[in-house]
Amino acid sequence: MERLSEPTALIDAARRGRPAVALAVLFGVAAVFTALLRLRVGGPFVARAIDDGGQIVSPALGACFCAWQARRLSGAERLSWALIAGGIAAWGIGEVVWTYYEVVAGRATPFPSLADCGYLLFPALALGGLLVRPSSAYAGTGRFRVVLDGAMVASALFIISWETTLGSVYHGGADNLFVLLVGLAYPVGDLVLITAAALIVVHSQLRRGDVFFISGLVAIALADSYFSYTSAMGSGNSTGSFADIGWFVSFLLMGLGAVFYEHVPADQRERTESIVLVCLPYAFVVVGITATAVGLVRSGIDYVTLVVSVVAISALLARQLLAVLDNRRLSADLLARQHELHFRAFHDPLTGLANRALFYDRVAHALELHRRDMRPVSLVFCDLDDFKSVNDSLGHDAGDTVLTTVAERLNAIVREGDTLARLGGDEFAVLFEDDGDVALMADRMLQALARPVMIQNRMVPLRASIGRSTVSATDGNIDVPQLLKQADIAMYTAKRTGKGAAVDYNATLGGVESNVLDKRIAFAGDLSAGRVGTALQPILSMECEPYAVEALARWSFDGVAVPPDQFVKMAEREGLLADLDLLVARKALSQMLRYEHLMATPVLTSINLGLGRFVEASIAERLGTLLAELEVAPSRLIVEITERDVLDLTVMHSALASLRDLGVRIAIDDFGVGQSTLSRLGAIRPDIVKLDRSFVEPLDDPTMSTTLVRGIITLAHDLGAVVVGEGIETERQFDVLRSLGCDAAQGFLLGRPMPIGDTSPVNIGITEPVGISVRD
Ligand code: C2E
Ligand code: CA
Ligand code: CA
Repeated sequence: MERLSEPTALIDAARRGRPAVALAVLFGVAAVFTALLRLRVGGPFVARAIDDGGQIVSPALGACFCAWQARRLSGAERLSWALIAGGIAAWGIGEVVWTYYEVVAGRATPFPSLADCGYLLFPALALGGLLVRPSSAYAGTGRFRVVLDGAMVASALFIISWETTLGSVYHGGADNLFVLLVGLAYPVGDLVLITAAALIVVHSQLRRGDVFFISGLVAIALADSYFSYTSAMGSGNSTGSFADIGWFVSFLLMGLGAVFYEHVPADQRERTESIVLVCLPYAFVVVGITATAVGLVRSGIDYVTLVVSVVAISALLARQLLAVLDNRRLSADLLARQHELHFRAFHDPLTGLANRALFYDRVAHALELHRRDMRPVSLVFCDLDDFKSVNDSLGHDAGDTVLTTVAERLNAIVREGDTLARLGGDEFAVLFEDDGDVALMADRMLQALARPVMIQNRMVPLRASIGRSTVSATDGNIDVPQLLKQADIAMYTAKRTGKGAAVDYNATLGGVESNVLDKRIAFAGDLSAGRVGTALQPILSMECEPYAVEALARWSFDGVAVPPDQFVKMAEREGLLADLDLLVARKALSQMLRYEHLMATPVLTSINLGLGRFVEASIAERLGTLLAELEVAPSRLIVEITERDVLDLTVMHSALASLRDLGVRIAIDDFGVGQSTLSRLGAIRPDIVKLDRSFVEPLDDPTMSTTLVRGIITLAHDLGAVVVGEGIETERQFDVLRSLGCDAAQGFLLGRPMPIGDTSPVNIGITEPVGISVRD
């Protein structure tokens, strides 16, 4: 492990350094190598040993660098560098065999020999390495083009090398076909390798690692060619020849190629389409044909070059044909894209209805017609009730299903010529430009949206609120935003005055509702900024020992305190109730943590959790996260729930189950009003029952029977629950409750809710003031 880290540090240093420095070092090493060989330091035998040794060290280093890069990468890129490393290593092993013959055995290396096997493995493996590498060159339909370009370049290169070296090797004549083929395999392998590398690079961005790598390939190709050429010419290959230096340098260059290789994530791989790169294969063909012509003039007809020229030209023609077909397909694509873009710019992608932009445009046009010749204009604004809760509790896919269902149902109602749009979220709108009965249409829409939607085998109740606004003759210069705002105000009136209704806009509405609108916006803003306050009210045992504090939300608008009942409802309507409850919980728990060290016995914190029309599945989870964050044991928290607003009882029970799993205590709030009945207590099995104020108040009257309250307390006790009396204002109420067996009490008598900033351990009942009893 340690030995590995050393070269890694070296390589990292090289990467951090400039490539130019790396190149300079490489040239320096190459120069020293050349000098040693040329000057024959230590005699011919030593020079030969240095020559062969250098050519073992160089591929060894190159293979190491490639292997290092392979280790760092993954997938196809790792395979690519591993294959290349293997190829270079194979070449190095070939060289070891060669050196054995030359230096150890002291005789000329036979041809072909095992050494050739190693050498030739290099182009084969390296080609494989290049082809498996992910590249934008292969992207999409480009693959066929790359093949044709490759054919063009390769045949041109073949012609050139045939005219310069291959031809001579071939004509030089070999003893037998096998020897000839092995001899030819070198230049052909190099040719294919360079073509593949060049094409891959040409179509993607040229990076410095590629420059090094391809330079290495060019160097080895030149060295091989030179070697073949000199061998064919019978001039032999002397120590320190151009070929030896070329091989030595080539693997070092490839090694640098690996060192400077940069991984490019798939989405950042760019296809380069510069005109120079497009023209390059054509240029190759021109050069290839020219070489054929020159050869023709110089030494007569050579069928090999002629055949390959034909291949090059065919590839060029096919490439042209492909370009023509490509262009046709492209322009068809472009047209389709244009249509699509146009459609997308004006339609909602989910429902396919007109979007806000198109709707505004249509309304503006309708208003122009109205001004010109009094054409009628009416808007219907439709907003789903509690849509956010559907999204939050059943997931976004369910939300999408609801929206598409709504779109379908509304589409079935509107007539040709009406514009139905989705303005965003769960807001839909229809523009009517005729004398039709808009009120009737609105009613039909309400009815259509009152039917539940089946999602995940569950009936999801659906309801909408509708606002209508009609432009009258006196509305002369009303503009689009004004008209839309009117419909919006009417819609919010519908929501506020009981959901699932349709309301017409009129001028008086405007005054009232714009205030409501401001309030809604202010509340949402304050809530998200954490500016909704919290008050704490003590809950004491009947012996006036601290038991718990209840956290209550506080909020004011324009400097005036808004009753919690009001803004809690608003929060529920806006789908913000869970956010509100969690904020209050966070503030209360944080404050209680500050008093923690004063508590003789642990004082519980009680929060209200609104389980609205739809219970948020995630509420228990969010609460758990909060408790974990504040490091509060779940058993220190009481969650007060009322059954008042809950419609879907199965959902509520599942929310209760997850709260119970969390380990918090569960209290039934306002017990005795709403839907909470004695029989349901058994099903819910709460830890705490909070007896509603309406039971406590009558206790002041000595003539009133206490049988019912006594019964509730007994039943709760039988179920193992603690009973808390709420709204206790008088000593008498307190005393009667104590005599009936009530366990704890909450009310103005024992302490009013205190804004968190004004709390002290005394006024929220955690500690008693020295010498004074709380009750006195
Ligand atoms: P609740 O949960 O029943 O809270 C007790 C309410 O009774 C509080 O009203 C409290 O100020 C009031 N109260 C306490 N002692 C007495 C008393 O002796 N006499 C009288 N007349 N009233 C007393 P508040 O703060 O106005 O809250 C009203 C309701 O708003 C709460 O009723 C609760 O249902 C809801 N609420 C308040 N804060 C939150 C909250 O953070 N989340 C949720 N979901 N609901 C909240
Ligand atoms: Ca409560
Ligand atoms: Ca209550």
